[in-house]
Amino acid sequence: MNCYRHNETVAVGICKNCFKAMCADCCEDVGNGLACKETCVKEVIEWNEMTERGKRIYGIRGKSLLPSANVTIFGLFALGLWGFGIYVYQKRGYIDYPDYLLFGMGVIFAIAALITYWRNKKIGITC
Ligand SMILES: [Zn+2]
Ligand SMILES: [Zn+2]
Repeated sequence: MNCYRHNETVAVGICKNCFKAMCADCCEDVGNGLACKETCVKEVIEWNEMTERGKRIYGIRGKSLLPSANVTIFGLFALGLWGFGIYVYQKRGYIDYPDYLLFGMGVIFAIAALITYWRNKKIGITC
């Protein structure tokens, strides 16, 4: 692929704004991409700023790991409670009142995990 302005020069990258191929003389590095030196630099910088602002608004930056960790924690709590309940039941041979409480709490944690998972998924789609 060659530069769209200099037909003989090999292109080094593609402009983030107009997606044209450009050579080293025509492009400018705007931090996280390349832009046409005269025509697109301003637009790409503005576009980058908008994306950054958007990320901050939706809390994508830095926070993305937290919700998925919550799903894992809630899920593990649920499994742990159910596992403990089953263990106690097998040891004793019958289900006692506190076991229902354990299973109930397990269900609550499982629901919390599902809600968190569903919410993450929803955020992932809208952004
Ligand atoms: Zn351009
Ligand atoms: Zn060029």
